[in-house]
Amino acid sequence: MNEEETVATGLKVSDRCDLCGAQAFVEVIMQSGTLLFCGHHSRKFQHTYVQQAVRVNDYTHLLQA
Ligand SMILES: [Zn+2]
Repeated sequence: MNEEETVATGLKVSDRCDLCGAQAFVEVIMQSGTLLFCGHHSRKFQHTYVQQAVRVNDYTHLLQA
């Protein structure tokens, strides 16, 4: 299986949460750059980054856990 095809999103399996290194499921695009979060950290910091984000790509619906 090709890694690029494993997750049908803009993110790859090799994309990791900036905070804990788990697989990233949320991509937060800001003026200053892009942040990646796992499901856990995206929920934890959602109230913070939504105020600054230019765009949020949320793929947590693909989380099986
Ligand atoms: Zn995390």
